[in-house]
Amino acid sequence: MGFYVRPQSLGINSKPLKQDENLRTSICCLCNGGCGLKVSLDQDGKVQAVFGDPDNPYNKGKICAKPMEIVQTLYGPYRVGYPMKKVNDKFERITWDEALELIAQKHNQHIKESGTGSIVGITSKIGGSYSKLAHSIFSELVGMANYGTGPICTDSEVNVRKKIFGNGSSSGPLSDVVRAKILLIVGNNCAQTKVGQFHWILEAKRQGTRVVVIDTRYTETAQVADRFIQIRPGTDGALGMALLKIIIENNLYDQSFIAEHTNGFERLTQAVEPFTLERAADITGIPRNVIEELAQDLASRKPGMLFEGRGIVCVNNAGATIRAFEDLMAILGNVGKPGSGIISHINNHGNIKDLIREKDVVKPDRERSAEALYQAMEEGEIKMVFIAGNPCVNWPDSKRMTKAIQGLDFVVSHTLFLDDSAMLADVILPATHWLEEAGVQSSVHRVLQWKDQVAVIYAEARSGGDLFRQLAEHMGIATSYFPNSPETAWELERTHNKSIEGITMERMRRTPGGVHFPCSENGQEAERLYESGLFSTPSGKVELVENDIAIEYIDMFDSPGNQGVSSEKYPYLLSTNKVASHYHTICQYSNWAWEMEKPYVEIHPQTASEIGVMDGSPIRLETETSSIVLHARVTRTVPRGCLSTQPYFGTRSIYGLLPINSLFPVVADPVGGNLVSKNIMCNAKAEGGQGQ
Ligand code: SF4
Repeated sequence: MGFYVRPQSLGINSKPLKQDENLRTSICCLCNGGCGLKVSLDQDGKVQAVFGDPDNPYNKGKICAKPMEIVQTLYGPYRVGYPMKKVNDKFERITWDEALELIAQKHNQHIKESGTGSIVGITSKIGGSYSKLAHSIFSELVGMANYGTGPICTDSEVNVRKKIFGNGSSSGPLSDVVRAKILLIVGNNCAQTKVGQFHWILEAKRQGTRVVVIDTRYTETAQVADRFIQIRPGTDGALGMALLKIIIENNLYDQSFIAEHTNGFERLTQAVEPFTLERAADITGIPRNVIEELAQDLASRKPGMLFEGRGIVCVNNAGATIRAFEDLMAILGNVGKPGSGIISHINNHGNIKDLIREKDVVKPDRERSAEALYQAMEEGEIKMVFIAGNPCVNWPDSKRMTKAIQGLDFVVSHTLFLDDSAMLADVILPATHWLEEAGVQSSVHRVLQWKDQVAVIYAEARSGGDLFRQLAEHMGIATSYFPNSPETAWELERTHNKSIEGITMERMRRTPGGVHFPCSENGQEAERLYESGLFSTPSGKVELVENDIAIEYIDMFDSPGNQGVSSEKYPYLLSTNKVASHYHTICQYSNWAWEMEKPYVEIHPQTASEIGVMDGSPIRLETETSSIVLHARVTRTVPRGCLSTQPYFGTRSIYGLLPINSLFPVVADPVGGNLVSKNIMCNAKAEGGQGQ
């Protein structure tokens, strides 16, 4: 069958696999890639190995390490199997009924005493579509505000793209890259972070697509590019502005597209005026002729596609940077045609409408940004939090988040693992893994794929779908709104969301690779958005101006997190960058991940010599927020003065390390709203010994 990797080599399964009824098909739910999986089960229905599904048209059998890592964690020592409550700082096993009753009492008490704004949810990638729908119904019925992965991952990208095009998702399928004449990859190491889809980029290159990578680091993706352009950190926006200026001044833009389908071109022309080649070269460190050549390349090779990554989304000047590159695609007319558009990490297929009667909807009585959440917990405005994720590790300033959660009256953690956040809970509820739950997975290709439950449910774990319906029952609120299975959940979702009306479960089951959304009731699916020339903005056009401003370039050193920070005390820049084996916090409980890659910090040889560290020796990283010791990896792949490490870890993970996010302050991109996890000023010193 030609599988990509055989995990027997991991020592997980030394017996030959039977290619029979024990091999089930599923979809990976880890990174929005939607890779097809083959899951080998033992006679008890437990997962014994995971492979890529060669019949899935998107990943064609290729997968990354992450789903294979889960095999070790599903039944490992970190997995939570039973509800527990904290008594005298120790967890005691209780029944689900006892746990739900306790949560219901606390929930009702806090709403009565302090209002709906006193309870919030902080959730991430736990559970599937059934759990997400039930969570959203529950939240609407009780007025609970929820913070998902948006603030730490995608908010700037979604918010800016919605303003420009009206929709945050990929405009065309990733497979369109083979039709593109040029692919511009910016701040995105997809060779590591989208391993299951990276083969499309290699295939495009084989078929003649010119692949250009812009990054601060010489990444694995840069290594396969036709052209790698190294850029100073946090200056991509200036490059985007200069490219816009060259293209506008030389009339290289698509004049008819701009006339018919955009608003604000004049203002954009004025905004990019100061970005001369000299200025852009000075800011970015890219030679003038290279910027000019890139502009010519983009103008002469059409259609073209853009693939941005977290390198420009999770930074303190993200909004202006994203807008510059997406406006660039728009004025070149790279929209709505095969081989054009923007490939996105975003896979939102829209929200349900009118499922809950108006009289039953309860609105949260306070609204807060993700930044404001910390203060509201610290000041006692928030009394109770419902966690389904690991915010003590994946939100910035982990120590501050931990302290804020510790100060709350009541904390619930619906979790797979006894992680840093679960340890702070008053009640822990065991969650099902996505291999133990049926549902729909939405992916980067803008498709929805159905996956069955393949693995037997671990111990007493329950899905969020069951949990929220049962909690509603204990709280005495309307349970009739809740679905009672993944199948009924999808029917409810489909029939209350116009953009997916035509995507029935049966249709997904019989369509290899799933069905594109939006998909109308008559079954017409949209493989590409905007082919008709009509955009999803209120005007129906591409909006090149927002609030009277086209783009306002913000210098990274004058942006939140770095503004006012002493460059003498903190002379270097620190970023986190994901690698294939460490991606989400839930990947950090596997022996294999541990064996493959220990945490390290990349440092240029010259910077290492300034500091006095050698390859492998301990180095202390310090920001205004915290300090951590990691081991140095001396490499020329990072520029001088820049330090790069991997996100997450955690004191309760297999690494037993303070989360790297401890080093990042709680600040957000002022335009797009993303919390910042890159390009923060830091200091680095040789450390005498190990430790934190
Ligand atoms: S690339 Fe993403 S979707 Fe594909 S196997 Fe890896 S984690 Fe799963």
